[in-house]
Amino acid sequence: MDLNYSVEEQAFRAEVQEFLAQKLPKEMSDAMRLGHDLGKEGHEKWHAILNEQGWLAPNWPQEFGGCEWNAVQRHIFEEECCRANAPRIVPFGLAMLAPVLQKFGSKAQQDHYLPRILSGEDWWCQGYSEPGAGSDLASLKTRAVREGDHYVVNGQKTWTTLGQYANWIFCLVRTDPDAKQQAGISFLLIDMNTPGIEVRPIILLDGTHEVNEVWFTDVKVPVENLVGEENKGWTYAKYLLTHERTNIAGVGFSSAGLEAVKRMARSQMHRGRPLIENPHFAARAARAEIDLMAMSTTNLRIISRAASGQAPGVESSMLKVKGTEIRQEINDLARRAAGAYAMPFVSEALEGGNEPDMGPEGSAAAAPQYFNNRKLSIFGGSNEVQKNIIAKVKLGGGA
Ligand SMILES: Cc1cc2nc3c(=O)[nH]c(=O)nc-3n(C[C@H](O)[C@H](O)[C@H](O)COP(=O)(O)OP(=O)(O)OC[C@H]3O[C@@H](n4cnc5c(N)ncnc54)[C@H](O)[C@@H]3O)c2cc1C
Repeated sequence: MDLNYSVEEQAFRAEVQEFLAQKLPKEMSDAMRLGHDLGKEGHEKWHAILNEQGWLAPNWPQEFGGCEWNAVQRHIFEEECCRANAPRIVPFGLAMLAPVLQKFGSKAQQDHYLPRILSGEDWWCQGYSEPGAGSDLASLKTRAVREGDHYVVNGQKTWTTLGQYANWIFCLVRTDPDAKQQAGISFLLIDMNTPGIEVRPIILLDGTHEVNEVWFTDVKVPVENLVGEENKGWTYAKYLLTHERTNIAGVGFSSAGLEAVKRMARSQMHRGRPLIENPHFAARAARAEIDLMAMSTTNLRIISRAASGQAPGVESSMLKVKGTEIRQEINDLARRAAGAYAMPFVSEALEGGNEPDMGPEGSAAAAPQYFNNRKLSIFGGSNEVQKNIIAKVKLGGGA
């Protein structure tokens, strides 16, 4: 295994760097660096810039308008985007639903929805989780009953990220309550503007409106919005989840975060000396950096195997656990480095503007990011559940 980048890969990196230098708006990268909220318009703007470049869909086949980049190219692109403080593309339509439609959707669904995902005409959200159906997703209860040429949907989804912006939701619904749990689920595409849908905000620990409850009361959904076959939704749901866990290690985010922590700790004084020279703080920062370097090498090893055609297995669970632990530790270090400047919670400070942070750069966002990123070890499959998988496959001798 060769972990050095080839000449072509280095040229690709230079091309990405050039693109970011030319096309990433400075106000956008500043906002990202300072942890400000980008808002719907900001996300849409970056989406449009990438679409114009033809770089919006790294994992899509070219026949559908994607880049069909290999794992190494995708890694380089992610790494450079994080380094340049580019926004992250909202994944629900592009990275999650699209692969399902490309593999299991009808030709009509592919022709209709895929171009609209690229153009940004549709904003998708994910309706998987319900109260009582998170880790144990197969116990979901939202019911869809076939009545002629449509389904009637009743139930509740929860934790629907950015559902307040979405005009479409892909949902797992129960179509056969008598079958074994996994065998009675279907995958439906639902227009959020259909009568009977209500979106209620959930305000997170950092004060942001990022997630929602979505309620369905007698919502009529045309049968042509069923993906694949009725009661086979669990297969498609699992396929989608393999795409949800891409770039799970978040090496780029952690590297950028650690650099910011070091900058902050150099400027902050503690007992008359820069905080970075405090032995306890320096030891924690060094430990985080060593862990990050080790994980980054593991990540590259897995990418290199993926590039040679081997699918990652339990390794993605290992990256999820380690990657999120490291990011949460870096968030904690940032909050400590900002010290008292991370104390007041002023949500306006995250909306950007001309006022600089009261403390060192990034200090206004240090506490909200720390609190917000408690989610990292929960969503995309909680870390406890990932550890069960690792234990079963690696320690228990299972398959
Ligand atoms: C910020 C955020 C955004 C999200 N966005 C979306 C979204 O857009 N769409 C969507 O559908 N879902 C979304 N989710 C839901 C997410 O997928 C679930 O929160 C996650 O699957 C965990 O489920 P749960 O919250 O019901 O917790 P539970 O499953 O009830 O778990 C509670 C605790 O028990 C532990 N636990 C559960 N089972 C086991 C086990 N077998 N062994 C050991 N420990 C166990 C868990 O690890 C956890 O610590 C989001 C969640 C968050 C926090």
